[in-house]
Amino acid sequence: PALVELRGVSKHYRRADTGETVVAVEDVSLDVHQGEVLGVIGYSGAGKSTLVRLVNALELPSSGTVTVGGKELTAIPEKERRLARRKIGMIFQQFNLFRSRTIAGNVAYPLKVAGVAKDERDRRVAELLDFVGLLERAHAYPEQLSGGQKQRVGIARALAGNPELLLADEATSALDPDTTSEVLALLRRVNRELGVTIVVITHEMDAVRQIADRVAVMENGRVVEVGDVYDVFASP
Ligand code: ADP
Ligand code: ADP
Repeated sequence: PALVELRGVSKHYRRADTGETVVAVEDVSLDVHQGEVLGVIGYSGAGKSTLVRLVNALELPSSGTVTVGGKELTAIPEKERRLARRKIGMIFQQFNLFRSRTIAGNVAYPLKVAGVAKDERDRRVAELLDFVGLLERAHAYPEQLSGGQKQRVGIARALAGNPELLLADEATSALDPDTTSEVLALLRRVNRELGVTIVVITHEMDAVRQIADRVAVMENGRVVEVGDVYDVFASP
């Protein structure tokens, strides 16, 4: 079975002001295979972020089922969903680091929340910072780092709980092209060396070309095409 299975997933919102229904995701059936990097590409408003929030069960679909690692997230109580979410790493466009915490403190944070003892936490934080090449900046604060370094911290933090799945939502959209390539190369290592399955959400075709094995194209809430990067992007 695939690591992530979306079956007939729709998400409709009701606009508070007009009462109008907004279709964010419409009848999406999609697999994310174990060990792959899947790119999800589409214009702004296509439904990509909503799809991510459905996969990590921050939102429940209006209809359809979401299964991650054999667990149907749409069929379990919220308490269990919260635990399942800890096994899913997330990185964001704006990095979402705590300004008031050091780099080590940011990476340690999810481990603290999960109740990991201090010795084990310190060991793990050092290992993660070493992996992303920032061990010597452990005591720096986020504002002292470049954008690329901040995203490397974001990646280290996302890996803290040993996730099987990493969701990257526009993770390189705030970065210049060189830094983007650097961060994508790191994500590749996360995939190849750590065996983490990755979903990269982006509007940047180049990013998908650089990193993805397969790509899903979203338009108006629907997945209109899915396949190998070379097939989907081949010129007619
Ligand atoms: P993308 O990530 O591709 O830019 P989104 O998933 O953010 O797309 O949004 C898809 C559509 O759903 C958009 O029309 C957006 O305005 C709408 N939408 C997303 N979240 C909400 C929400 N919480 N309430 C109302 N509409 C929403
Ligand atoms: P905060 O108190 O804001 O969470 P700290 O900088 O005090 O941030 O450190 C948070 C955690 O990171 C602690 O568990 C600490 O022991 C650990 N830590 C700090 N520096 C390092 C380091 N160089 N290598 C590994 N772990 C570290």
